[in-house]
Amino acid sequence: MITLGIEGTAHTLGIGIIEGDRILADVRTVYQPRAGIHPREAAQFLGENMKNSLDSALAGAGLGFKDIDLISFSQGPGLGPCLRTVATGARVLSLHHRIPIIGVNHCVAHIEIGRFLCGFKEPLTLYVSGGNTQILKLEKGAYRIFGETLDIGIGNMLDKFGRETGLMHPAGPKIETLAKKGRNFIELPYVVKGTDLSFSGILTNATEKFRSGKNSIEDLCFSLQETSFSMLTEVTERALAHLELKEVLLTGGVGNNKRLQEMLELMAEEHGAKFGVPGGYCSDNGVMIALLGEIMHKAGVRQSIEDTIVKPRFRTDEVKVSW
Ligand code: AMP
Ligand code: MG
Repeated sequence: MITLGIEGTAHTLGIGIIEGDRILADVRTVYQPRAGIHPREAAQFLGENMKNSLDSALAGAGLGFKDIDLISFSQGPGLGPCLRTVATGARVLSLHHRIPIIGVNHCVAHIEIGRFLCGFKEPLTLYVSGGNTQILKLEKGAYRIFGETLDIGIGNMLDKFGRETGLMHPAGPKIETLAKKGRNFIELPYVVKGTDLSFSGILTNATEKFRSGKNSIEDLCFSLQETSFSMLTEVTERALAHLELKEVLLTGGVGNNKRLQEMLELMAEEHGAKFGVPGGYCSDNGVMIALLGEIMHKAGVRQSIEDTIVKPRFRTDEVKVSW
C-alpha cells in the first residue's frame, strides 16, 4: 500500500510518500516569516507551494496519483487557515482521483514516527515543538498527557526570545549555536508544577535581562537552554520514575537540540532506560503524516469527507489508539 501524507499545521508544507516501512519521498518547504508566524500568510504560502511540492514528491518517487492508495493529512492541532488550506487540497485530490482520505492528529504523528524510527514499543515521550510541550504515554487506548506546558510551548518561547533579540525565525537552532559560546550562568525563573511546566515567565525575564544590556546574548542563550531544558528533563524524569518505563523518546522540532538530547540521554541512562530521537524527523514533515495515516488505515479506521473537518485544538488524548 502506498500512502501520500500532507503536513501543514503551521510553517512547513511537507509531502511524504511511503510504502509500508519504506520512505519514497520527503519534500519539505518552510515558510520564513518576517516576525512571528502570521496565520494567513502561512496558509497562503502552503497553498502556493502545494502543486510544486506534490509534483516533486511524486516525480522523486517515480509515481503518479494512480499509484496512491491513501491520502493522509494533518487535521490538527494547528493554525486554522493553514489546516483549512491543506484539508481542502487533500479533499480535492481524494475526490478527483477517487483515493480514500484520512485526517490525522499531528502530535500523534510525531510520536508514531519516533516510535517507528527508534524501534520503541512503549516509550515515555517528550514532545517538544513550537506550539506544544507534552509528556505522554499510551495508556488505556490513548496517548495520555502526564505533563504539559500551562502556557506557551517551549519552541514558541525560544522563537519569541529570538524575535525580541533580533534572531531570525526559527530561533531555536540559532539559540543552540549561541549557547555554545555562553560562559556565565544567569539565573532565570524555573517553573515546574508537578509534571506541568510554564515558559512565559522565563521569556519575559530573559527578554528584560537582554534589554538591560548587562548580559551577553551568548550567556542568555546558554542560561535559557540550561534552565528550560532542565525543567523538561525534571518532569520527564518524574514521569519515568513513576511509570517505570524502559524507553524515553524525544520528538518534535526542539528535539533537534543536541544539548536537550544530551540531558535526556543521561537521565534515561540513570534509570536504565533506552533513549531515542528520530534523527532528521523531529521537525514537521509529511512522512510522519503518511505513516500515521497508514497505521490508522491498517487498523480499520475509515473517514468520509464529512469526517475530515479541521480541528485547530485537536488534543493528543482525543485520538482512540486502536493499533
Ligand atoms: P516543529 O513545529 O515540530 O517543526 O518545531 C518547530 C520548533 O522547533 C521551532 O520553535 C524551532 O525554533 C524549534 N527548533 C528547531 N530546531 C531546534 C534546535 N536545534 N534547538 C532548539 N529548537 C529548535
Ligand atoms: Mg510539529
